[in-house]
Amino acid sequence: MTKTIIAQLFTKIETDGEVAAFIDKANEYSYYQLGNDIVEVAQKINQKEVKKGPIIVYGVNDYRALSVFLGANLSGHAYVPIDAHSPLERVKLIVEACEPAAIIITIPEIDLALKALFENYSTLSLHDFDFKKKHDLTTVDISQAISGTQINYIIYTSGTTGVPKGVAVSHDNLLTFTDWMINDFVPINNNQILSQAPFSFDLSIFSLYPSLLSGGTLVALSREETLNFKVMFERLNRSVINTWISTPSFIDICLLDPSFTQENHSAMQQFIFCGEELTINTAQKLRQKFPAAVIWNTYGPTEATGAVTYTKITDEILKNYDRLPIGQAKSGVEIKIQDPETKAFLPQGGRGEIVITGNSVALGYYKNPEKTAEAFFEVDGISAYHTGDAGLIDESGQLRYFGRLDFQVKFNGFRIELQDIEAHLTAIEGVEKSIVLPDYTSDNKVRRLVAVVQGETNADERAFTKYLKQSLSERIMDYMMPSTFKYVDTFPLTQNGKIDRKAITDIILGK
Ligand code: AMP
Repeated sequence: MTKTIIAQLFTKIETDGEVAAFIDKANEYSYYQLGNDIVEVAQKINQKEVKKGPIIVYGVNDYRALSVFLGANLSGHAYVPIDAHSPLERVKLIVEACEPAAIIITIPEIDLALKALFENYSTLSLHDFDFKKKHDLTTVDISQAISGTQINYIIYTSGTTGVPKGVAVSHDNLLTFTDWMINDFVPINNNQILSQAPFSFDLSIFSLYPSLLSGGTLVALSREETLNFKVMFERLNRSVINTWISTPSFIDICLLDPSFTQENHSAMQQFIFCGEELTINTAQKLRQKFPAAVIWNTYGPTEATGAVTYTKITDEILKNYDRLPIGQAKSGVEIKIQDPETKAFLPQGGRGEIVITGNSVALGYYKNPEKTAEAFFEVDGISAYHTGDAGLIDESGQLRYFGRLDFQVKFNGFRIELQDIEAHLTAIEGVEKSIVLPDYTSDNKVRRLVAVVQGETNADERAFTKYLKQSLSERIMDYMMPSTFKYVDTFPLTQNGKIDRKAITDIILGK
């Protein structure tokens, strides 16, 4: 039997105790310290006699949150990361949907409204832990740790009705993903891996687990650093990074900096992308700036644990494709293409919905059997997931991606259901109807979100837009905020009485 994630991690803690597990702007945390802090967290959870079930970890993407995720795991609890930059309304929806066994707050302060919301749950804050205490790491009891098909984490994604859906990922889902990342990409000793994605976004697992289980070092960029380009480039330039993990949108920002080159980052060996389309333009620029590094395009939804397909972006691929392929399946996974109408699986070359089957498919949406039944199913007894992505497998066995079959988009790397924004927008007083349109660049990237509203603007559209933005900011994540608001007296309707998205797109965006 393969060892659990916690068992493997404690082996690393034993053999590589002095190695830095996590480096942020100001501090380095060794594997030894991480082991100590994990035990401290697990002990306090046990002392508090937290009932069975997931633990919400409310904080930011820092060392403390990571140590709490792992402490929760050691004590037999799944963790649910909630980013402290989330609006109160979203936190409320997640807490209600999840009904956590406990909430652990990993930032020093939270405001009164959150305190009131968390009051009804068993909570632990930073001052409940003694992170200076030394634990005996040779006798750690790992028998309660998460294993097998138990839920390892739940990540909440945008849901079409405005209520977030919690993707429940099992220990074995995460372990097979981690093994793949460690073994099938460029193997690097003492790997220094960029950790930049928020922990509430599943791109973060690309960095966290492969690094920790291979004795690597996480080089972490905080949100504050990434929001200030000068600070970010200064930090990047004094960091040694071997493996880069990000969305293509994030590398696009980095490519703007002239100092982001192979000469200044001679240790860089590979770039791994996921989460949205990697354009030829971005890949070409990167190849010019980093000729010695390998570029990987990987693909997968949160519901299939990070990613499930991968391909090396070679010069040949750049020459032969007009849209970059997303590769071949990792071991334990099979990709099928299904006809959306007849539900028949199509032979090679057939275009339809990408269906993922195998050991990466998550357990389903937590406490949401309805949504689970809509998207998760079985093929010959094997777990399967309807991605909602359009694709085909070409003659060289490469999976191709042609966008969505529904109203989900990727904007700056973030997954957004347009209907999620619409649900919150239409709930605002004075709004009768609304839709949100993605405006695409010629290489299929969303450049902005445009909200189209029918409502009581009282002829002052500017003031109404301000009011809408203010009301929306209390309900949706900042990355979901439309940048443009347009107003209509009535919406064009389709024959069956729904808003005609195509017609309104033509009118508003002139396409
Ligand atoms: P998330 O759950 O946030 O990882 O979002 C999953 C969705 O992102 C997929 O269903 C795709 O629509 C899109 N996506 C992920 N990776 C890629 C890729 N390499 N190329 C194109 N789209 C991608």
